Amino acid sequence: MNNIQVFSTRTGRLVVCAVRNFSSSTSRQQEKHYKLLVVGGGTGGCTAASKFASKLGKGKVAILEPSKVHYYQPMWTFVGGGTKTVSNSSRPMGKVLPKKADWIQAGAVAFDPKNSTVTCSNGDVIKYDYMVVSMGLQLDYHKVKGLPEALLSDPAVCSNYSSKYVTKTFPALENITDGKAIFTSPNCPIKCAGAAQKIMYIAEEYFNKNGKRDNIDVIFNTSGQAIFGVPKYAETLNKIIEDRNIQLNCRLSLEEVRSDTREAIFRKLDSETNEKETFNYNFLHVVPPMSAPDVLKASPLADSMGYLDINKYSLQHARYPNVFGIGDCTNAPTSKTGAAIAAQSGVLRRNLTAFMDGKSASQDEYDGYTSCPLVTGYGKCVMAEFDYDGNPLETFPIDQSKERRTMFHMKRDIMPEMYWNLLIKGMWEGPGPYRRLMRLGMGGNKKSEVAEV
Ligand SMILES: Cc1cc2nc3c(=O)[nH]c(=O)nc-3n(C[C@H](O)[C@H](O)[C@H](O)COP(=O)(O)OP(=O)(O)OC[C@H]3O[C@@H](n4cnc5c(N)ncnc54)[C@H](O)[C@@H]3O)c2cc1C
Repeated sequence: MNNIQVFSTRTGRLVVCAVRNFSSSTSRQQEKHYKLLVVGGGTGGCTAASKFASKLGKGKVAILEPSKVHYYQPMWTFVGGGTKTVSNSSRPMGKVLPKKADWIQAGAVAFDPKNSTVTCSNGDVIKYDYMVVSMGLQLDYHKVKGLPEALLSDPAVCSNYSSKYVTKTFPALENITDGKAIFTSPNCPIKCAGAAQKIMYIAEEYFNKNGKRDNIDVIFNTSGQAIFGVPKYAETLNKIIEDRNIQLNCRLSLEEVRSDTREAIFRKLDSETNEKETFNYNFLHVVPPMSAPDVLKASPLADSMGYLDINKYSLQHARYPNVFGIGDCTNAPTSKTGAAIAAQSGVLRRNLTAFMDGKSASQDEYDGYTSCPLVTGYGKCVMAEFDYDGNPLETFPIDQSKERRTMFHMKRDIMPEMYWNLLIKGMWEGPGPYRRLMRLGMGGNKKSEVAEV
């Protein structure tokens, strides 16, 4: 395949010539060409790159990823609870990215999907035949007034959502002796929405075990309408908060933190007069607002909210057919989790492969499968699994809305192993086929499940 390209000479003359497209990196300075470019080497990017690097062979796939470290973020709930460390959750990026793919250690700074190119922070321009975008979400701590300062200066303010601040959580739990322990959840789509409350249940149990629960009010101030979006699991969680005397305040969004006076100011989302409510805090766990990365927001790939604009079933871009998306940065309206990525990865593999073979990219449909292991203490977990419509899609032939120790071990001990050894190596596409087997063919609704066990 030849490309017509226009170059400007030093005298300002324009030269038009045909340039041969190579399917791997070319020797032209600062311009490289790959069959597949994967932007982002987190959960989704690593998984997608692994699948296609082994399929397409060496030199055909590049991963654009600036970070030296890859994190298994679900472990941060346990880091906050004091039973794991940040180093337990991390691996050097070079060790997890697939060997057959080229790692370009830089960030994307501009997308030009019309010309199928991406400009990198190191100045390189990468041309691609196909692209998978998997840039995750940006943490917008700065959108809450006073929060960045409070996270730096106040030992009582912490956040499990960042490798930088998660180490503050357990010391803050140890330090509080009385008063209010407040947990927040913002008014926007976030990754693993359940993690906002998982740390609260762990904290409550910790206070109990350490004889200080009677002196501490445990409060969940959430922007949501309810404790959880899926009624089956909300029922269990409502019972838990009632039994454990946890205060739930819905439709409150954190707007400002005044660390000098230890005040947290919340906006009442349903107030027509923009009313606010101030809480004094002795411990404050903040889930920050999140959004698509700025570079994606500013690109033609974005929808009106800034997310990668894809077809929620096929994962193909809505306007640029050689672009696909996986993970948190897309506008697929599911709960954003690693579990969702596992299910998406199988759909991506089938649809992108078909498209590369000249077929339609609608061979398979993502049904919105996601899972939220709602840890409710140091040994219990409610394993929520559901689809786009909030219908439970449970893997095991038991009632998963109950708190269970087995599900806790699944979450703490088995899932990290599955992550490092299967998912990011491209070998785990979610539990759909097993769900059908365990439920004797009654628990799945994907086109591909019967064929692909
Ligand atoms: C506290 C917590 C608990 C969680 N618990 C669970 C759980 O129990 N179960 C579950 O399934 N999920 C859980 N999750 C969610 C899960 O970790 C995420 O949904 C998942 O990691 C998202 O993967 P991703 O590839 O979309 O984004 P990420 O894994 O965040 O990766 C995005 C990558 O893109 C890179 N990037 C950013 N900008 C650029 C750029 N300009 N150019 C190139 N690369 C770029 C980043 O460096 C990063 O490596 C949890 C998350 C948190 C924070």
